[in-house]
Amino acid sequence: MAGERVDAEKAAEMVGGLRRMFESGRTKEYEWRMAQLKSIARLIDEKEKEIMEALREDLGKPEIESYLHEISMAKSACTFALKQLKIWIKPEKVRSSVTTYPSTAEIVSEPLGVVLIISAWNYPFLLSLEPLIGAIAAGNVAVLKPSEVAPSTSSLFAKLLPEYIDESCIKVVEGGIPETTALLEQKWDKIFYTGNGKVGRIVMTAAAKHLTPVVLELGGKSPVIVDSNVDLKVAAKRIAVGKWGCNSGQACIAPDYIITTKSFAKELVDSLKITLERFYGKDPLESKDLSRIVNYNHFSRLTSLLDEKYVSDKIIYGGKRDEKQLKIAPTLLLDVPHDSVIMKDEIFGPLLPIITVDKVEDSFAFINSKTKPLAAYLFTKNKKLEEQFVKNVSAGGLLINDTVLHLANPYLPFGGVGESGTGSYHGKFSFEAFSHKKAVLSRGFGGEAKARYPPYTPAKQKILRGLLNGNIMALILALLGWPRE
Ligand code: NAD
Repeated sequence: MAGERVDAEKAAEMVGGLRRMFESGRTKEYEWRMAQLKSIARLIDEKEKEIMEALREDLGKPEIESYLHEISMAKSACTFALKQLKIWIKPEKVRSSVTTYPSTAEIVSEPLGVVLIISAWNYPFLLSLEPLIGAIAAGNVAVLKPSEVAPSTSSLFAKLLPEYIDESCIKVVEGGIPETTALLEQKWDKIFYTGNGKVGRIVMTAAAKHLTPVVLELGGKSPVIVDSNVDLKVAAKRIAVGKWGCNSGQACIAPDYIITTKSFAKELVDSLKITLERFYGKDPLESKDLSRIVNYNHFSRLTSLLDEKYVSDKIIYGGKRDEKQLKIAPTLLLDVPHDSVIMKDEIFGPLLPIITVDKVEDSFAFINSKTKPLAAYLFTKNKKLEEQFVKNVSAGGLLINDTVLHLANPYLPFGGVGESGTGSYHGKFSFEAFSHKKAVLSRGFGGEAKARYPPYTPAKQKILRGLLNGNIMALILALLGWPRE
């Protein structure tokens, strides 16, 4: 049934079949999980060319970008899971408490069951595979619904996944709103959604009907604060590569806007212009290193941001566009009105407004006056400012003196906070996103404390109160069978 378009009836049938597979216990076996993960790693190696081609068709991504940001990252997520799985699945022994003495206690990670993964178009390979790796590592059966906005990658999944992994436990459903709606009507044990907040709300509402937990990997306006105490050449390169080197800014943690001081803005702008010209030449629309905009809808959304009244005259670099190629040149804007759409909505494209403040510390209040971003960046050599940034700015993740790179550390959770999302994944966090941490306490038949049982005489109550207050004498007395009455 892989890759089949579904309606509510077919979706129900599919979920029913998957639930039976889950109940058979097959996916819980360590060997099954390892075999699937190994096959995914093999798929990535063997089908690299086809994956590259699909990404080129869907997004016009430069090959090296597809390799760096999708293929190699999916491969390392898989290799990491393969290396760590034995450790992740081990029950975690924890201490016993006085009140449960004598006993042993552990936390057992168990798969949640039948999970749904809905992914987005901008990194269509990675954003589908990385959660799926987590779901499989944790021992679930799963349905993957790739984005219809990246149709080549979606149909590649529908074709390849059944060739490589256990088709009876992992399904691919292709399609857009009707298919996703049909899927969302079903009862899932977890829904993992990547995309915009508007659909995030639809997903959460559907999940609430069944009390299904969700991970929502959403977006937001990720700010970059640039202090004057920086290595400006390095900062400009790292901002530019995180913005235009990531799918032309169509990345959830691409810098959305810059905040700097009024007195430093000119120096920063000059440095960004020099960097951009070095990276993409005098005519960036012809550069092979810039992705195009995904489709006409997004192209016209972005150009209308630029054409808004009181915004278009704030363009200080770039602004050129080519509708045929769906390309927009890297564009800098200085001091756009704070109530313009470009400063209200997530940009998700190659436009970078720069906002100025009197003091760099004023940036924190500006950021905190908006909804919580998925990422926030600070460039500074000032350690005190760095500390204030970490203490005062709430975002999914923070990165100091670079952009985007924090997502490449599998020991860090990746996810949003507030309107930028809920839950996280990457590395062990992907395994945990699809696991239930089951508390297991085990006791023998000894260690009977009479005081536990009615009737609660004053002497028993005294022992119980002592016990609950951590009094060791009370514990000894309780274990010795006191009160003797
Ligand atoms: P999209 O259009 O591909 O939509 C995402 C998924 O939602 C798709 O699978 C689509 O079929 C489904 N969908 C769309 N409309 C629906 C509806 N009405 N009902 C049910 N399902 C529906 O992607 P998008 O939303 O344009 O993605 C861009 C957004 O995603 C940005 O906000 C970006 O910041 C965010 N994003 C976040 C992350 C992250 O990891 N946090 C990663 C990538 C993108």
